[in-house]
Amino acid sequence: MQGLMMDMPLLVSGILQHAARHYGDTEIVSRRVEGDLHRYTYADCERRSRQLADALSRDGVSIGDRVATLAWNGYRHMELYYAVGGMGAVIHTINPRLHPEQIAWIVNHAGDVHLAFDLTFLPIVEAIAAHCPNVKSWIAMADEDRQPASARVVNLVNYETLLARGSTDYRWPEIDERSAAGLCYTSGTTGNPKGAMYTHRSTVLHAYAAALPDAMGASSRDCILPVVPMFHVNAWGLPYTCPLVGAKIVFPGAQLDGKSLYELFESEGVTYSAGVPTVWLGLLQHVRQAGVKFSSFKRTVIGGSACPPAMIRAFRDEFGVEVIHAWGMTEMSPLGTLCRLQNRHLRQSEAAQQKILEKQGHVIFGVDMKIVDDEYRELPWDGKTFGNLLVRGPWVIREYFRGEGGDPLKYDADGRGWFPTGDVATIDADGYMQITDRSKDVIKSGGEWISTIDLENLAIGHPAVANAAVIGVPHPKWDERPLLVIVKKPGAEVTRDELIAFYEGKVARWWMPDDVQFVESIPLGATGKILKTKLREQFHDYRLPGA
Ligand code: AMP
Repeated sequence: MQGLMMDMPLLVSGILQHAARHYGDTEIVSRRVEGDLHRYTYADCERRSRQLADALSRDGVSIGDRVATLAWNGYRHMELYYAVGGMGAVIHTINPRLHPEQIAWIVNHAGDVHLAFDLTFLPIVEAIAAHCPNVKSWIAMADEDRQPASARVVNLVNYETLLARGSTDYRWPEIDERSAAGLCYTSGTTGNPKGAMYTHRSTVLHAYAAALPDAMGASSRDCILPVVPMFHVNAWGLPYTCPLVGAKIVFPGAQLDGKSLYELFESEGVTYSAGVPTVWLGLLQHVRQAGVKFSSFKRTVIGGSACPPAMIRAFRDEFGVEVIHAWGMTEMSPLGTLCRLQNRHLRQSEAAQQKILEKQGHVIFGVDMKIVDDEYRELPWDGKTFGNLLVRGPWVIREYFRGEGGDPLKYDADGRGWFPTGDVATIDADGYMQITDRSKDVIKSGGEWISTIDLENLAIGHPAVANAAVIGVPHPKWDERPLLVIVKKPGAEVTRDELIAFYEGKVARWWMPDDVQFVESIPLGATGKILKTKLREQFHDYRLPGA
């Protein structure tokens, strides 16, 4: 028997309409590329997004067409999210930190028909325009009087001129909730990137889930500053979660250094933020050096790569800020797990609580996970056994755009498909997951696995260490052994032997790095993660002492 409830589709346009109606005067504040602060409200954002949707449809954009962006976090980017998605087309966010050749490849693979860009990225547009024949116009996201000229880009259009051609009488269409709303390519450290195509339904469900108290816990009383970029996995869904709950948004634009962020946190009363660990290193360094405290900042979600325990402690003990460690991936929209304490933990010692908070956390309802061995046999949730992490859920991809890479799913005995994350993890009896490594990065020493993340986290806790990475290097007896690569803090001194001794008593003896190499910097990829492939290349000819 079928239930008898309405079949109202879950659409992204519904989120913004809700915000405009119920939180119409709540502000969206943006640091513009020009340097000034722009402010308007959800009501303004919804009206302009409709106008832009109308203008784009007059320009021939139709259902399913891909419209790309190369842009920072800002109000125009938000308008594009809703205008393009809301009209039934697909907002394709591109990471500007990728190489121009790779960007051109992505634009062509996606079949983008228009591309909107912040002025910072004009040089990228100039480099790729001639190689992207399907793009009908390149839309400069700037005021009309700041419209750039470029001999190398034909069909350079101004965003405001385009928007003004649309009518505010435009009404959001009611489309199938399973239609595509957004597209984001994986960072692709090996091989070509692959496209994750989000639906309206997956995006709305993800936004609901993210808002839950034990997930991001966002509310209309919050002022949220997403440092995490809108150009990669929709800023962890915040442009959807914030209007869904009616939170004020502060977009930091291109100025992501510690000082600029701190000033914005203070002037706008930011309560909540989200970003990758490298961003917070910069902010912590600034507030410590300047000897200042936060007056409104209470919580931040940290993920994208493992959050060093020392960072969780520093935020809590020095600044009274709660860190919510989170894990996810492009293929998961991206949220999978977040780490909050439950009632059962509240009576435990602070040290025991800290151990839990270092984990990547508990799944949000909607995501199912398990760990398996190489033969896909399920492994126990004992907090010790490592396994390949598989997930399923309504905001997890079923396949990549254009079927790239074939069917990515692994099927269980009941015929249910699971997405292999490529991560290796443990899950404890309470369901808290901890990432041990990417499966490609885990060190295999004498048939046993060593977690590079654990070794890196410990090294970052050393007072002389600014950043650390661990890679496996060949060893004649053990196959692979850990090599610790260190960037020292400016002016700090520490020796190889001191660093190795620092691990004593903290890890099993056979986990201790065999050697240390000091470098000026560690290569980071386009999403701020350590590029282990590059690091392994860099140390390709390195041989362990005595090996
Ligand atoms: P991306 O698709 O670029 O967002 O990268 C997803 C990958 O980043 C995951 O599969 C993990 O390997 C890694 N990752 C994300 N969050 C965390 C975290 N909190 N701890 C460790 N690794 C993480």
